[in-house]
Amino acid sequence: MKAVPIAISSRRPPAPSMPTTGPLIDVFGRVHTDLRISVTDRCNLRCVYCMPEEGVTWVPRSEILTFEEIERIASVAHDLGVDSLRLTGGEPLVRASITDLVARLGRIGFSDLSMTTNGSGLARLAPALAAAGLMRVNISCDSLKPERFAGIRRRGVLATVLEAMDAAEQAGLTPLKINVVVMAGVNDDEIVDLAGFARDTGRVVRFIEFMPLDAGEAWERSKVVPGEEILARISNVWPLEPASERAVDAAPADRYRFVDGCGEIGVITSVTRAFCGSCNRLRLTADGAIRNCLFANGEHPVRDVLRSGGSDADLALLLRQAVWAKRAGHGINDPSFLRPARSMSMIGG
Ligand code: SAM
Ligand code: SF4
Repeated sequence: MKAVPIAISSRRPPAPSMPTTGPLIDVFGRVHTDLRISVTDRCNLRCVYCMPEEGVTWVPRSEILTFEEIERIASVAHDLGVDSLRLTGGEPLVRASITDLVARLGRIGFSDLSMTTNGSGLARLAPALAAAGLMRVNISCDSLKPERFAGIRRRGVLATVLEAMDAAEQAGLTPLKINVVVMAGVNDDEIVDLAGFARDTGRVVRFIEFMPLDAGEAWERSKVVPGEEILARISNVWPLEPASERAVDAAPADRYRFVDGCGEIGVITSVTRAFCGSCNRLRLTADGAIRNCLFANGEHPVRDVLRSGGSDADLALLLRQAVWAKRAGHGINDPSFLRPARSMSMIGG
């Protein structure tokens, strides 16, 4: 058979241009459906992996987005296909009248509306938050030993947070997830105990690798306990099997269930096995910047658009541009990696 000549062009394929309709998509085809909103940079605690112990300068109140402004951005994002919203901070429960904001956001109609909290103010607020439309909460708790817990969170009380977990369940803010930042030599000897806590309570304990987002810049690679090691230590006692498939699940946690059917845990391997390829998240900081990655060094100032009379179409364009500008990965493991200027409480984890 005679070969058919193939025309090979020396011209590069044209760079894709940003779509102005359809879902929020980036250059790599990742569709963004999850928005994390930081409602405040303030916090009542000073966790060692997040904030400095003293000398925090808060963002002036006039620079913090109002409830009306947050609602407007959330609504535009919803129109662009965002269906999952998480409130965070700082500590979201220190923002005055937070239940009013939840009610406003609840009316927009997200299929998932959740909050990450340190739990200190939750026992009192859980029923009102649930009534306002909050669906579930993640509560941070890095140790089951009261003194160690207080040492890590600097101002936290374990008993209060355990009460908050009960209150959240009674209010129906479930499935309840418990966030544990694992730090070598600090709390890694409790990995098995915390897995036991997940088995005893039915709560999903999520072990998070320590990320270079602490204000004190004390992060070192040697303080990261790799997710693989966390899984091995638990499996030695209670065998685990995967409960999620990364290729089809955009959630940051890899989920595992106990083979004997007694519950589930998660590992968030942001450092050793990044999940950037399936990332569907973008973030709004308390002072009104859109960040397309926790580790991004650039931001898109949506507050300027809001306060200069911008239309919903202008806001939508900015959201699209922020997503379109997202890099392929966070680059923590690249030699050229630069820590972002903002630490975790300033970004919103
Ligand atoms: N104040 C709330 C809380 O602590 O749950 C919400 C905000 S906090 C920034 C969100 C989550 O980020 C928490 O689960 C916290 O443990 C986690 N986090 C903070 N700094 C971190 C770091 N350097 N590495 C990994 N996770 C971190
Ligand atoms: Fe506050 Fe949460 Fe940061 Fe701890 S992790 S200092 S509770 S914002």
